[in-house]
Parts: sequence; structure tokens; C-alpha cells
Amino acid sequence: MVSPRDLVREDILQLSPYHVPDAGCMVKLDAMENPYALPEPLRALVSEVAREAALNRYPDPSASRLKSRLRSAMAIPPGMEVAVGNGSDEIIQMICLALARPGAKVMSVEPTFVMFRMIATYAGMGYTAVPLGEGFALDADAMIRAMEVHRPAVVFLAYPNNPTGNLFDADAVDAVIGRAPGLVVVDEAYHAFAGRTCMDRLASRPNLLVMRTLSKLGLAGLRLGLVAGAPAWLAEIDKLRLPYNVNTLSQLLAERIMAEPEALLAQAAAIREARSGLFQALSRLPGVDPYPSDANFILFRVAGADRVFAGLKSRGVLIKNLSGSHPRLADCLRVTVGTPEENGTFLEALRATLAA
Ligand SMILES: *Cc1c(COP(=O)(O)O)cnc(C)c1O
Repeated sequence: MVSPRDLVREDILQLSPYHVPDAGCMVKLDAMENPYALPEPLRALVSEVAREAALNRYPDPSASRLKSRLRSAMAIPPGMEVAVGNGSDEIIQMICLALARPGAKVMSVEPTFVMFRMIATYAGMGYTAVPLGEGFALDADAMIRAMEVHRPAVVFLAYPNNPTGNLFDADAVDAVIGRAPGLVVVDEAYHAFAGRTCMDRLASRPNLLVMRTLSKLGLAGLRLGLVAGAPAWLAEIDKLRLPYNVNTLSQLLAERIMAEPEALLAQAAAIREARSGLFQALSRLPGVDPYPSDANFILFRVAGADRVFAGLKSRGVLIKNLSGSHPRLADCLRVTVGTPEENGTFLEALRATLAA
């Protein structure tokens, strides 16, 4: 009898599956979702679009209307090309598959978004991560030295970084882009909460690609990511896109909703506001050390993080336990900024857990 062990690639056999816990009816502050439902006028639009959608037909294979909407909504510079993905995870996968020549490597920093390493592995590529410096800052010199040794085909930088929440210094990012032997992909998943971007550098940096996603903005369920960059790179990457990767409803809804993004941007502004309140409340708790954040989540350190995580869970609040995932994240937990009410529930549960 043939078994998976006989046929599945050795590196895939070694992988542990990406685990997403079931939140049940807990307060869900683990996944960087926008806590607010879509505002009413947009919900009406969703029904209307869904009713009229030609679901008997395949989606527009080039997603041309959606892409032109995204060009203006995301201020993609003229002359740059865009590709869309089923979430930005799929874009990372397309980039890696395109570059996976024998021996080609992916590089990033650590700690960072785990999908960079996982997708590099899926593509059969080597992966190297350069430790972040003090305060999780990007160490451009260490990065440049490592790029000279490993000659990565692509460097991924999350800006702001996940799970640390900080924006790297813009000059350090630029130094890495300038010295990289290959592509640099700046992943701006948290752009709505940070306000800084590398988009305006695409024209002067021909080895730069910028990724965005609608997930953290309030449309995680649509699964829509995009990448912008020079047409010559995008033409190759787009060949790896499966023909109808972004379904009809996602294309139509994203196109219509991003025509009037004000309501979602107002929610992002409310989340930024709530972030500073949550940060201050965490700083005031004895034994709790939050890290400054430019994203919609806050990383904090607390003694006995495993026990605190379990205590929160038993009180009905699900956050993310990062303790044990990386030496630099020992005793670290990550909480997504929720509504003021959810943040209050979380803080109450945290106080109760710390006092227990
Ligand atoms: C959440 C996240 C993404 C995920 O994007 P999807 O578009 O939902 O696939 C990408 N990059 C980073 C750094 C993230 O934290």
C-alpha cells in the first residue's frame, strides 16, 4: 500500500499545518480583523451587487475594472502594473513560484509574518531571516551583510511588521532596497493604520514591489490582495496566477466598495484612536509591557504569558499567544484592537487574570 510518506515531498512532510483556532462565541481579538460590520449603505450595495452578479459565467479573468479602481483607491503611480490575488497570501505564493529557480532563496527578518517562511517552503526555496535589532528595528547593516552572503532572489519586509506592530525606519528600508541583489517586496497589509507607504518609491526603485490587501481594512472575507510594480516584473508574476483566482463576487464587491472607501477609512481612524487608548491602559497595568504599534494590534510582554493567555480564554477572550514561537517573543501576546467595548472586555479579563 502506498502511503503519503512514499510520495509527498520530504519538506512538506516536515511542515506543521497552519493552525487557526476556532473562536466559538468568544470575543475574537486574535486575527487583526476590523471589528466593525460593513456600514449600512454598503450592506445594501452588497445585496444589490450579489443579485445582479452573473454567477453562471466565469469571473473576468483580467479583473480589469477592479484593477483600475484599485489604481486610484491605492494611489498606484502611473506606469506601474497591478496584479490581484486571492488574498495577499496568494500574491506571496505567485512571487515565490516565479522566482523558485534551483537554489534560489527568500530572505526576511525575524520575528515577522510566518507566511513568508511557509510559502518559501511550499515553493521549495531556501529561507533566511535576519534578526531585528533593539525595539524590533530593521538592522539595515546586518541585512545588507546577509544579502551579500545569501544573494536572495527576493526580500520580504512587512511595513508595519507583524507581529511586532512597528514601522521600520524609512531610510533603513530604502537602504535594503538599494543594496538588494534581487526583488524587495514591501508588504503594506496594515497601511490603513500606519499612513506611511513605499508606493511612491516604485518609480525610482525598479526592484521594488508593493503589496496591499483589503483584509485588515474590513474585508477579510472577500480575500483580495494586490501587488504593484514595474510592468516587466508583473508580467512574469501574473503568469503564475490561476485563471479565475479572484471570484466574481469579490471582484464586483471590492470594485464597488473601494469606489467609496470613506466609511471603511473612518472605521480605520476609529481603530487607530482606540489603539492609543488600549496602549495606555496596557502600559498602566503592572507587569505588562506593550510595544508601540502602527498597526491594528498591540504586542505586549507579560510574565507567564501562557497562563495569561489561558486565563483570558477561560474568560471568553481570544487573542494570539506568540510565546514559544520565537526566542524574541518569549512571554509575548498579541491583541487585535477591537471596538471600545471589546477592548474594555479584554482589559477587564486581563486584570482579573493578573489578579487571580
Ligand atoms: C494579515 C497579513 C497579510 C494577509 O493578507 P491576506 O490578504 O488576508 O492574505 C499579509 N501580510 C501581513 C504582514 C499580514 O499580517
